[in-house]
This record gives sequence, structure tokens and C-alpha cells, in this order.
Amino acid sequence: MDKRSKYGVKTVTILILAVLVLIIASINKNTAYILLSLIAAANLVYVVYYEINKFRFEKQSALIYQNRIKKLMNIVSANVVIWTEDKKNLILNDKLRELIGRSIEGMSNEDIINYIFPHGYMMHDGLDAMLSGEVKEFPLRVNSSEIRYYAWNTTMLIDGRNGKYIISIGFDVTENKVIRQQLNIMNNSLSASERRYALAMDLSEIGIIINEHCEDVFHISEELQKMLGICDESIKVSDFVQRIHKEDRLLFETYLKSAHRIEANDNFTHSMEIRVLSSGDVYKWYSYRYKRINTGNFGMPVIGGALIDISIEKEKDLLIEKMAYIDNVTGLNNRNKLMITGQELYDCCSILDFSYWVIVIDIDRFHIINDTCGYNNGNRLLKDFARLLNRKKGKNGFVSRIGADNFVIIVKDCDAEKGPDALIAEIQNEFSFFGNNHSYNQSLSCSAGFSKMPSDGTDFVSVFEHAEFALSICEKRRSVIGYNSSVHDAIIKGTAMEKALADAIEAGELELYYQPKISLRTKCIMGVEALVRWVKPDGEVIPPDQFIYVAENSHLITKIGDYVVREACRQNKRWQDMNLPNIIVSVNLTSEDFYQKNVKEFMSDILSDTGLSPDWVEIELTESLAMKDIDFAVGQMQELRNMGLKIAMDDFGTGYSSLSYIQKMPITLLKLDRSFIISLEFDEVAQEIVSAIIKIAKSKKIETIAEGTETIGQVDILEKLGCDYAQGFLFGKPMKASQITEYLRKSTRLSIPAENIL
Ligand code: C2E
Ligand code: MG
Ligand code: MG
Repeated sequence: MDKRSKYGVKTVTILILAVLVLIIASINKNTAYILLSLIAAANLVYVVYYEINKFRFEKQSALIYQNRIKKLMNIVSANVVIWTEDKKNLILNDKLRELIGRSIEGMSNEDIINYIFPHGYMMHDGLDAMLSGEVKEFPLRVNSSEIRYYAWNTTMLIDGRNGKYIISIGFDVTENKVIRQQLNIMNNSLSASERRYALAMDLSEIGIIINEHCEDVFHISEELQKMLGICDESIKVSDFVQRIHKEDRLLFETYLKSAHRIEANDNFTHSMEIRVLSSGDVYKWYSYRYKRINTGNFGMPVIGGALIDISIEKEKDLLIEKMAYIDNVTGLNNRNKLMITGQELYDCCSILDFSYWVIVIDIDRFHIINDTCGYNNGNRLLKDFARLLNRKKGKNGFVSRIGADNFVIIVKDCDAEKGPDALIAEIQNEFSFFGNNHSYNQSLSCSAGFSKMPSDGTDFVSVFEHAEFALSICEKRRSVIGYNSSVHDAIIKGTAMEKALADAIEAGELELYYQPKISLRTKCIMGVEALVRWVKPDGEVIPPDQFIYVAENSHLITKIGDYVVREACRQNKRWQDMNLPNIIVSVNLTSEDFYQKNVKEFMSDILSDTGLSPDWVEIELTESLAMKDIDFAVGQMQELRNMGLKIAMDDFGTGYSSLSYIQKMPITLLKLDRSFIISLEFDEVAQEIVSAIIKIAKSKKIETIAEGTETIGQVDILEKLGCDYAQGFLFGKPMKASQITEYLRKSTRLSIPAENIL
């Protein structure tokens, strides 16, 4: 029965009793009195009954109420605690109970509340603080070991019947708190690093440049304004470029152009060293580091750069650089510097659409000048030549000395039609007068090979090598050869040639020809030089110049070497066995033949196989071959000499060695190169050189032979100069072994000088 119907029953009952009392009182007053007492007793009984029922009912409804609340508390995912102000009653939702678990077993309600909301806080700030509407955060020890953090929202619930309840809802904020703590730490360290950064900037004196969206201005930091002596926060890019030293300007402009390319996508930090006109109107060295960032604003970049004054370090660097990159004879850049600068220029070419000529120049017969005029005069000539090249290189040119008498000059290609020939001709002309103006007493000349950058190679090294290659195929003095595709074709042709040569060796198409060597004293043949030929089945004879270089670049050269030396020795033994006059057979060795470790074994095997005495064999080596590794070469020569073989220095005067080197080598014969002999009759300088060489050789007990002797006039001069032997077309071209047999037969039978045999 609900409350309302109970009150209705009670009112109706009292009304009925009141009407009954009035009726009875009108009949009998006593009976009415008794009835009134009865009603009063019944009323008391009712009230007691009602009050008992009411208590039972309220207890029941409080339980119902609590159950409902509990259900509600468990629906929410937060922790919920409800307690009364006096802390006597307490309800925890299941989540919270589970979380705290055994930690609160046996605790009083008050202790539990103090456990959830730290006692200190409750004591100090009191409940009012919790009810203030603010979210309060407290740590809570859960599962007896772990501490987690909860943000509690506390509200007072006033239930008219049940009194005041306090409800606190707590959310787990542990993760947030950790993140907040980390952020705090980061924030603290960030601001600390910002402070450090600012301090470092102050101390390190770094100037900052910003260039946004390819604008024509650089925004510059206060420090940079101080460094450069500028009173403005920005400077026009062109004005800044003007402040850069003219030698560094190209580098900077190249960078600027590539950094401003919209399509560029480069997030790297680049750096360069430049000189910039600074406060006090002096150039200072700066390390410029820059980075480009694409802002996504239509790909327009922002370029940030930092300039650090490195003038002091640079001074030290320049000293070291001087030692590492400067040639100490001429003061020019050396090979190391050439390689670095060459590649920088190559890179500029690709970006700025420039081209350069790379010219390698060689002073013809420089070592002879060195030998005949003395080392100091040689050095003086190199210095003068360096000055000449420096004058000729122009504003943006570069000059370097890369070897004894080898120079490189890099000049901008201003007139694609003309090429560098005019410049080289100027250099050659001016150089030829050096002999008159100085005490060199020589007619001076130089040769050059050149290539174009960037079109003649994939990088600077390849362009440079092509120029060197062009120089290497210069045969005459004062030559100029440009690298071109036909030269390239020749290289490619070499590959096809290699295959054909391999087949020819297998098929036995190699044959030895022999050229007589004549004694200028007796005019009799004293030896022959074995010269290899490739005789094709159709009778075509290919000279060695056309295939030796191919063989040298492959394993074929060892096969050729073995064939030549073996066949030459066998042939000489045959001549000896035919009782013809004993002659010396010379063989040409290549670098591969000579530098092999077992050259001694190689020669002694052949000698013992053929039965020829070493006295009748001469090894011809070229200067460049011997100079490759002079110490090792001298050792190898000594070994061969110890075996009793003779050693000749071939083509003397064309290579890089000097007489002073030759004197260190245990050689027995010096073969004067044909280029001296050709001009002997008309060129006094050539005569002087030949004379000097012969004298020095004689003083060292080294015999001399003139290669390429073609005229009687040459023979006369050679005789006068004291040359021992001659070899050349005058006495006989290279010929088959059978012709030499005849030659030898005639010379013994008739006992007449060679000149009369021919
Ligand atoms: P080389 O050893 O200096 O040989 C001398 C070259 O000069 C020979 O050319 C010879 O024909 C040529 N010659 C000799 N006298 C005269 C002359 O009066 N006028 C002119 N214009 N030329 C003359 P060849 O036979 O064509 O040989 C060229 C080079 O090939 C040789 O120069 C040598 O370096 C190399 N060679 C020849 N045969 C062999 C060989 O069997 N092995 C090796 N490794 N190299 C060889
Ligand atoms: Mg030779
Ligand atoms: Mg020669």
C-alpha cells in the first residue's frame, strides 16, 4: 500500500469514529466517554503501528535508493565514491573497489576516505575545498604497489529524506600526467637550450642570412650587420654578391642559381668558404653554411644561411694549403689543387651553361735543358713559364703545374668557333723568345693537348685525362692536338684490334724484322735491333706502333714479349752457328716484361733454351718505363747486368728522365732519339744538346747510338761529336732475318764497311 492510501484509510477511520462518538454522546454521555477513550487508545495504537511501519518503510526505501545508486555507480567507467559528511556511510563503486582491492581490507569508512583523498589534504583544505567545483588530482596506491593519479570531481547531493551525501567521481589521469611531466621537462630543457643557443650565438658571432621565396633581398641578422658593417636589416642580393671577393663570386652565384631553382628538391646543408668585404673595408674569410627548405608555397624556397668568420683559421689553413696545394718551384697550384678546382669548375659548367678548355702543356725536351743548362736555370725557366701562363689565363682562368715540365691551364670558352688554338699559339710564340732573352741558349718550344669541359668527359678527371691523352699523341715538338671523337674511335678500335691480335698470335702471324746497328768507327755492323711485325696472311705488314699499345693494355703483351726475346736469341744463335760475325741482338722490353719479378729467370730460361751467351743480347728500355719506379728499375737492371746482358736506354730525350737519373742506372748504351738527329744538320741547338749528351755519357762510360740516321751529313756530324754507333734507314731499314743473313755474309766475305754494302 502506498503512503497516500494509508493516509486516506486513517482519515476515513477517524471520521467514522468521530461520527460514532457524536451519535453515542447524544444518547449516553458515559458511553461516549468510554468510546472517546477507546478511540484515543486506538489512535495511539495506530500511530505506534504507523510509526513502526514508517520506520520499516523508510529503511526499505533507503536500501532501494542505495541499490539504485550502486547500479548507477557501476554503469559509469569512472571511479565513484559516495559518502556522508560525517564519513560514517560510504559506498564505493565496483571499479574503485576492485582497483584498491585488498589495500583497504579491515579499514574503517573514515580511513578509506582518507586513503582515497589524502588525509593531509582533507585536514588542511577541508571538504569545502573539494566541493569548490575544481577538479582535484590525487595519487592513489592501487594493488598495493602501483601509484596512479585520479582527477576527482566532488559534489554534495542533498536528499531531503536521507540527508547530505557527497559524491566524488574520479578519472584516471596517470598517462596524461606522465605526458604533462615529460612536456614540462622538454619545455624546461628547450628553453634551456634556447638560452644556450642564444648565448652561443652571441659568443660565436654567427651571422644569419635568410632569403625567402627567391626575393631579391637577404634578410640579415644583427650580428651579420655588425660583421659586414651594414646598418640595415636587409641587403639586396646583387649588393651582397658585389661584396664577395671576385675569385669566390662564381662559386656563390652558382650556389644561388641552383638554390633558387624551383624544381630543386635538396634538403642537405651545403657549405662553402668565401671572402666577403667586411667592416673596416677588409675582406674576411667566412664559412658559409646554407640550407634550402621548400615551404610548400608553390615550391618557393626559403634559404637559411650562416656566416662564421674563419679568417684566423683560414690563415693557418692557407699556410697548410700552401704546403699541400702549391708547387714550391713556381708558386702555382699543384696537381691536388687542380683536381679539386677542376671538379668545382666542372660542376659550375653544368649549372651555369659555361664551357672551359682544359689545356695540358708540356715543355719540349725540358730535361735536356735541365741537364745541359743546369738545375737552377731549369727552375728559372719553369718559373718564367709559370708567369707566362698566369698572364695568359685571363680573369677566370686557372693554372697549375702537375709534373716536372707539365702545366695545365683552364680557360673559359669565350669563342666556341675558335677553340684554344689562338691562346696556345700565343703561349708558344712568347715562349720561343725566352731562349733569346735569357741565358738558356736553347730554342724553346712547348706542345699542348686540350679537351673541352664539360662535353669531353663525365667529370673533371675524365676531361683532364682526355687532354693528357691528346698531348700524349703529339709526336713532334710544338704540336697542338685537341681531343676529339676520332681519337676516341681509335680507342674503341683498339678493342676490336685486341681480339684480332690474339688470333694472329695463335696463328703465328708475328714475325721479327731486324735493323742493323753500325759502328761509326769501323763502319761495320755491330748488332741488330729485333723489331716485331704483324704479317697478315695476305702479306700486309702491320708496324708495331699500331698493335703494341693494344697488347700493352691486355695480357697479350707477355705473349709477344716471350715470342720476341726467344725468337731474337734463337736467330742470333743460328747466325753464330752459321759462322757469321758475332753481333749483338737488341730486344725491346715493355713495362710488363721488365717489371715482372722473375725477369732474370725469364731471360736465363731463354738463354739456356737457345744456347746463346748473354754477351750477345741487349735489352732496350725506354726512359718512361725506367722512371715508373726508378729504384725497382735500377735493381732489375742490375740483376740483368750481373747476368752479363747489356742494357740500352731507348728513345733518350723523349721521356721524363734526366741525365742525372740516367747516370744512376747501370746502362751500357744511350740511344739518342730520332727527333734530335733529324734536325742535327740545320739546328745548332740540337747539335749542342747532342754534343752535351754524348760528353756526359762518355764521362760515365756509356756508349751512344744515333737512332733514325738517314743522311751522310748526319753521320759526319755524329762522328765529329764522338757518337759511337748509328742506326737508321741510311744503313738499312728493318728487314727479314734472311736479309740480315745476306748482309752479314757480304760484310764478312768482302770485309767492307756497311755503307758500301748498301
Ligand atoms: P724503337 O725501339 O725506337 O725502334 C726504332 C723504330 O724506328 C723502328 O720502328 C724503326 O723502323 C724506326 N726507324 C729506324 N730507323 C729509322 C729511320 O732512319 N727513319 C725513320 N723514319 N724511322 C726509323 P718500328 O719498327 O716501327 O718500331 C717502332 C717502335 O715499336 C719501336 O721503337 C719500339 O718501341 C716498338 N717495338 C718494335 N718492336 C718491338 C718489340 O718487339 N717489342 C716491343 N715491346 N716493342 C717493339
Ligand atoms: Mg728500340
Ligand atoms: Mg728507339
